[in-house]
Amino acid sequence: MIIIATDIIMTNEELWQAVLAQIQLNISQANFATWFKNTDIASCKEGQIMVSVPNSFAKEWLENKYGKTIFKILYNLDKEIKEVNYIIGKTELKTFKKPPVSFPSPGQLEIEEFKINKETNLNPRYAFDNFVVGPFNELAQAAAWAASKKPGLVYNPLFIYGGVGLGKTHLLQAIGNAVIKNFSNKKVKYLPAEKFTAGVVSSIKNHDMENFKAKYRSIDVLIIDDVQFLAGKEKTQEEFFHTFNTLYEDNKQIVLSSDRPPKAIPALADRLRSRFEGGMIGDISYPDYETRIAILKTKSQEKGIGFPEEVLDYIANNIQRNIRDLEGALNRLVAFQKINNQTPNLEVSKSLLRSLFLSPNRIANPKKIILAVAEFYDLREKDILSSSRKKEVVRPRQIAMYLLREELKSSYPFIGRKFGGKDHTTAIHSCEKIAKELGENENLTNEISLIKQRIFSG
Ligand code: ADP
Ligand code: MG
Repeated sequence: MIIIATDIIMTNEELWQAVLAQIQLNISQANFATWFKNTDIASCKEGQIMVSVPNSFAKEWLENKYGKTIFKILYNLDKEIKEVNYIIGKTELKTFKKPPVSFPSPGQLEIEEFKINKETNLNPRYAFDNFVVGPFNELAQAAAWAASKKPGLVYNPLFIYGGVGLGKTHLLQAIGNAVIKNFSNKKVKYLPAEKFTAGVVSSIKNHDMENFKAKYRSIDVLIIDDVQFLAGKEKTQEEFFHTFNTLYEDNKQIVLSSDRPPKAIPALADRLRSRFEGGMIGDISYPDYETRIAILKTKSQEKGIGFPEEVLDYIANNIQRNIRDLEGALNRLVAFQKINNQTPNLEVSKSLLRSLFLSPNRIANPKKIILAVAEFYDLREKDILSSSRKKEVVRPRQIAMYLLREELKSSYPFIGRKFGGKDHTTAIHSCEKIAKELGENENLTNEISLIKQRIFSG
């Protein structure tokens, strides 16, 4: 987060988008896509900017070849900036705990991380008010809304699933925020499943399990995000099962999210799976065109900028499967607007956004498909590629073959060779088998649609 003029506040993301926007105008598409993909500002502290890059190649190139340009652009945006460094990955320095010294007054601080309540882990930015409802998410939204009105009494547990960037966390947090508003005496806690797991592990280590349990017993609404991460963690699942039962028997509300339905989470204890399935399950699928436009309009309004219809139309047509990406595109244009004090027209928007739309994330390849299938079924890539006849491998392999055919139009001989050197008749048989079953088996349809979401959302 940085302040570039007395009244213009930019988040790290916006600042970096502004840098990218300028660089993009000066180098080739190919270079841009190669060197600037997956880069970010990891931190900005006391005039020192830490840029995170995906690998050592990119680090070297950015430092040596583009370092000066990047520094110049940043310095032009903020004269406080003294130094730009590069790190691989983002974890090391991503701290927002302290505001940079250059902040003039706390009144201007708008860093979201500051607003997250330490007790509840809720971020007030996520509300029902700013959650756009369409046919793709209305069931999940309605259930969430009902749960927030009568926590513990309807839809318990409430289980929401859907692909990456489609609003699960937003909805879960909105429930928590609404409960706090509706019932001042209720205790709410939001936790990513990974944090819950970490809590279990450290309590076991410190022989502090009783304390851990007591902490959860006092909660009225427990919200656990991304429970697919509990897969395979037996001890954590056991603790979660007990916590779940205690709360459930006391009519406390439990809300869960996952990237897939309970029955598709591998290595989940049956008793936990049946608990997850015991309440209401709501899914979020892809937003339709109208909703994508509505979301873009809501977000531009939040930022106080009105973009031309044709610009919104351009974004909505090019990003169809991820609401976070819709926001990312919009942020790029917002950055342009803030720097140039001018709303980008369609032509400018196209040049600012082209590289986003070309992003390799949105294009499938055999490797991505195979990895996504392997991950989804909790297998290793090499198992899927082997010629093993184990039941738990055969079916995922057939699904991978089917997806290669459907999504990439790969030839049958290619598919056969790829998977354990089989001949093309095996490939044809596998693809046809899955295609036929798709019409009849709803589970399979859901699973394949979730795998596709993973392939196409990076
Ligand atoms: P997920 O948890 O499913 O990966 P998030 O809840 O983090 O997705 O959503 C990604 C971004 O998209 C967030 O900034 C969120 O506010 C926004 N978003 C998602 N769905 C909606 C919606 N229906 N209306 C408005 N914003 C949304
Ligand atoms: Mg999420």
